[in-house]
Amino acid sequence: MKDEQDRPLKGCAVEGRNVAPVACRCPECGHEVEMFSDELETTCPQCGKDVTMEVCKFGNR
Ligand SMILES: [Zn+2]
Repeated sequence: MKDEQDRPLKGCAVEGRNVAPVACRCPECGHEVEMFSDELETTCPQCGKDVTMEVCKFGNR
């Protein structure tokens, strides 16, 4: 129903998992967003824009 509202904070759940944090830049506002390598997309905390891993990789060079 409203499962968007209480998503667990990222960071704690990552320990022990085989993922690497990736620094991305939001294509919308340029805010730096941290994403984990097992995620396909995340949401920019600043503007609410979806930041996909594709965009992340693209902006990484
Ligand atoms: Zn943004």
